[in-house]
Amino acid sequence: MSYDYDLFVIGAGSGGVRAARMSAGNGARVAVAEGTYLGGTCVNVGCVPKKLFVYGSHFAEDAEDARAYGWDFEGGPFDWPRLRDNKTREIERLNGIYRNLLDGAGVDIKWGRAVLEDPHHVRIGDEIFSTASVLIATGSWPTVPDLPGREHAITSNEAFYLERFPERAVVVGGGYIGVEFAGIFAGLGARTTLIYRGAMFLRGFDDEIREFVAAELDKKGIDLRFSTQVESIAAHGDARHLELDSGATLDTDLVLYATGRTPNTRGLGLETVGVALNERGGVLVDEFYRTSVGNVYAIGDVIDREQLTPVAIAEGMCIANNLFTDKPKRTVDYDLIPTAVFCQPNIGTVGLTEAAARERFGSDVDVFGADFKPMKHTLTGRDERTLMKLVVRRSDDRVIGAHMVGPEAGEIIQGLAVAMTAGATKEQFDRTIGIHPTAAEEFVTMRQPRSR
Ligand code: NDP
Repeated sequence: MSYDYDLFVIGAGSGGVRAARMSAGNGARVAVAEGTYLGGTCVNVGCVPKKLFVYGSHFAEDAEDARAYGWDFEGGPFDWPRLRDNKTREIERLNGIYRNLLDGAGVDIKWGRAVLEDPHHVRIGDEIFSTASVLIATGSWPTVPDLPGREHAITSNEAFYLERFPERAVVVGGGYIGVEFAGIFAGLGARTTLIYRGAMFLRGFDDEIREFVAAELDKKGIDLRFSTQVESIAAHGDARHLELDSGATLDTDLVLYATGRTPNTRGLGLETVGVALNERGGVLVDEFYRTSVGNVYAIGDVIDREQLTPVAIAEGMCIANNLFTDKPKRTVDYDLIPTAVFCQPNIGTVGLTEAAARERFGSDVDVFGADFKPMKHTLTGRDERTLMKLVVRRSDDRVIGAHMVGPEAGEIIQGLAVAMTAGATKEQFDRTIGIHPTAAEEFVTMRQPRSR
């Protein structure tokens, strides 16, 4: 039977666009449906605008630090609409680039919400397209828990387009988005509070890194309220009034909820077609991203594994390889995923935390570390520190974890991730010549294990 398309991708985010382009490059006839914007969360309301805001939020400190180096800059005032609108122009430019990439690859872009009629037919409005295979790449959406006054809170989606910049901000959630936005708000001049329900935020990261980041955010004046839950939010004009479970109250101008993102699976017709979901609504897939329905695949945030753009892209590459080439089937290695949190200073991390390594390998683990004042601050006097940490399996000398808090931690950890993917040993780290003077050289000069 002949179909309109070999692959119909639903969702033009990072994963969907990559799968569509690469599949078309492998000779497939491909369409991609999108109801909102090209580039998905990452380009429009995620990684890219967030990083621009992080850059923007560091200039107040940079201007202060510059004095020790002989420069006096006129301070402020900070012009929020200028940053916001410059960011939006850049995002629009990227939307255009995504369109050109798809056009250039010969992928048909279909605007509108796509619904599966059956495993081989996709409907958009009044049009129905037939396809041999379907790829669900619809991403995820921020979730706000059910509490009185939740409608008075915003999510990261709205934070990128605020009409006015708040004087006071409360961020709820202690994951990636919470700590990143707390840093952005504080850096841009808002009096910022971060509320987290547990005893220490950034669950899943190395414990020492978590404690260290908490201390650094505290130094920057962010009011960290751990073991705290918001019970209700009330609006008083433009202001927001929060009741906390401790009995305390908090008045603020903005409440941002960063309490996780839920896979976008509603209204796609997945139930009709029989695609199995997990309890959070994520699409269940096998190791090659095939769902419970044989010709329907899924990648990215919607499969509820790692909500990270580069992972979605890697999964998209697997789809193009597995469906449209004769090469051996590929899947993503989820064991060594480097990641960065753009809090200030940044976190960069790859591999096992110290606790996870000890749990898996017991006493066969050495930990090396360095904790120091970055060279730049020897003149400025700023009390910011950098932490670096290597976790090594003693029996085969393999470096199995690398963690850092400090300026450009993501840039530094990316290179270490290459070495660790290649199976580097601690002895090979030690033989590597350092680049002097850098912070990164500490990773090749840690000689004495700190704990065994
Ligand atoms: P995360 O899952 O990272 O963090 C959610 C936070 O909210 C956790 O601290 C969690 O607490 C807390 N939380 C969850 N439910 C509730 C609740 N009902 N009440 C109070 N607190 C709650 O989600 P984010 O929203 O921060 O980010 C979503 C994902 O996006 C991330 O996991 C990440 O994969 C991705 N991302 C990646 C970035 C990067 O690579 N730099 C940047 C931004 C996002 P607890 O720990 O106790 O469960």
